[in-house]
Amino acid sequence: MKVLVVNSGSSSIKYRLFDMDNESLLAKGLVERIGIHDSLMNHYPTGKEPMRKEVDIPDHRKGIELVIDALLDKKFGVIEDISEISAIGHRVVHGGEKYSGSVLFNDDVLKILEEYTELAPLHNPPNILGIKVCQELLPKAPQVCVFDTAFHQTIPEYAYLYGLPYQYYEKYRVRRYGFHGTSHKYVALKAAEILGRNLNELKVITCHLGNGSSITAIKDGISVDTSLGFGTISGVIMGTRCGDIDPAVIPFLMKKENLSYEEMNDILYKKSGFIGLSEGISSDKRDLEIKAEEGDEKARRTLDVLYYGIKKFIGAYTAAMNGLDALVFTAGIGENSPRLRKKICAELSFFGIEIDELKNNIKGKTSIISKDNSKVKVLVVTTNEELMIARDTLEICNHMKNNI
Ligand code: AMP
Repeated sequence: MKVLVVNSGSSSIKYRLFDMDNESLLAKGLVERIGIHDSLMNHYPTGKEPMRKEVDIPDHRKGIELVIDALLDKKFGVIEDISEISAIGHRVVHGGEKYSGSVLFNDDVLKILEEYTELAPLHNPPNILGIKVCQELLPKAPQVCVFDTAFHQTIPEYAYLYGLPYQYYEKYRVRRYGFHGTSHKYVALKAAEILGRNLNELKVITCHLGNGSSITAIKDGISVDTSLGFGTISGVIMGTRCGDIDPAVIPFLMKKENLSYEEMNDILYKKSGFIGLSEGISSDKRDLEIKAEEGDEKARRTLDVLYYGIKKFIGAYTAAMNGLDALVFTAGIGENSPRLRKKICAELSFFGIEIDELKNNIKGKTSIISKDNSKVKVLVVTTNEELMIARDTLEICNHMKNNI
């Protein structure tokens, strides 16, 4: 059975086609700059030459049409007929409190997702648009929604409530939701598999460190706390997002600098983190590492804040779970920065974390990097959110079949 995975953003569509009989990747690609000038598509069929198309892509409909054409293409395609795509799995960022797992898309789900656009105004509308276009172009294929927030719906009340008047939770559902759930779940399951253990009996901390970052505590197979919250700016500092700050800073700055709601949001989401603390050096961790090695103080202090922040979460979540069996690093930074992993783990021997410098010297590979006698196992796991989405899609389709 072939499953197409679609991640539809405001101006881009990422896709992957899997053959779920053996979980192999048949093709992947990216449509970029939808609705903007210089739009393009890059298509990478497995075992074949890649294809690049620079064409006008005014909207998502045209974008998805191009994806289908590429998959069917005589030279660059990987299927012969559109009916070979049995189902489509969509990444949907916000499933609110309603969804603790993936669901089959229908009109009722659409209504709920539309309600949640208020909670994820930048993400849910393009996600919904992608589903609607796929439904129109592939009407026979079931569409499945896989939510970033779903895995974190197990977080207990004492960890998801903020210390605000309770009426704001009741009125607006202001609470911690958490994101990157599909990635946290995938890498935790993979880590357990590598360790030959059952995730249900482990205490794991997963560090998804990329352009956006979050750290999650997973106990007995479920998420019990996570560093992102209501929005996507809390926790550790990120490329352009501020991470945890004292909320008192926000009204103070708004008053002092006469900032509007939009301007303040812009500072918190787009002008802070690596780019803000380094005074504009870069939002990319690689650039900061190079600069820091050259002795740049701004880059050094930014990285110091990052390392310290991650370390604090590891400590806090070890306490929250009353122990730790495995620490997992993933995503762009987590997978590719031996230096970051070394810096963080260097001062965690108190917790029984001992990494092996030689084993740690890897980039973009899945492996155990702790010493053989380390009480806590430390792993790098390359994330694969798309495969996780395809697995959930397959499961829901099988469930449908069995209930017919
Ligand atoms: P992501 O959002 O998961 O794509 O991660 C983006 C972040 O990963 C950026 O800050 C990059 O600097 C970092 N990154 C990606 N590749 C590497 C690499 N080879 N070495 C160090 N950092 C990397």
